[in-house]
Amino acid sequence: MHKAFPDSINRLIKELSAMPGIGPRSAERITFHILQSPRENIIDLLNSIKEVKTSVRFCGVCSNLSDGGTCGICSDPARDRTRICVVEGPGGITAMERSGAYRGLYHVLLGALSPIDGVGPDELRIGGLLKRLSGEGVAEIILATDFTTGGETTAMYLKRALEPFNVTVTRLSRGVPVGGSLEYVDIATLQRAFEDRRKA
Ligand SMILES: [Zn+2]
Repeated sequence: MHKAFPDSINRLIKELSAMPGIGPRSAERITFHILQSPRENIIDLLNSIKEVKTSVRFCGVCSNLSDGGTCGICSDPARDRTRICVVEGPGGITAMERSGAYRGLYHVLLGALSPIDGVGPDELRIGGLLKRLSGEGVAEIILATDFTTGGETTAMYLKRALEPFNVTVTRLSRGVPVGGSLEYVDIATLQRAFEDRRKA
């Protein structure tokens, strides 16, 4: 904390520092940027944050972000409906879409298994995934959870949970660095990890 600054500034720096990928130095730079920006720009930013928090919902089918109903991917008739790619968060969808390698559907778990943090299968959107397998004509489930301990544990759990279903289960190949979150994998690596995916 800087004794040199008013409390309101210190508070904002502290709030911003709590965001992912933003350290105290960046938080300070953003705070000064906000102070120097025209008032209208900041009001636009605040309104965008407010709108996101009030109007964005999870898609009832895949738990991707949507503006109320079914998300843009689930409602796109051009997507390949025989495949579902399972990701931990909406960031996984962004990563896969950026790679351009995949044209199927998604399922967002909204987390990864982590017994230490009290995150068990019931805390994730796993039931919804299993429900989709009865009736949608799904032939392949691609496990694209992160290559972290939580992501691997989740992939292993899903492989077992999917065994009773008549569906091929694959996992992205190990081109993705160990400990890596899908969101930070470069496009070429992710394309290769998808092309080289193997039976889980
Ligand atoms: Zn959806």
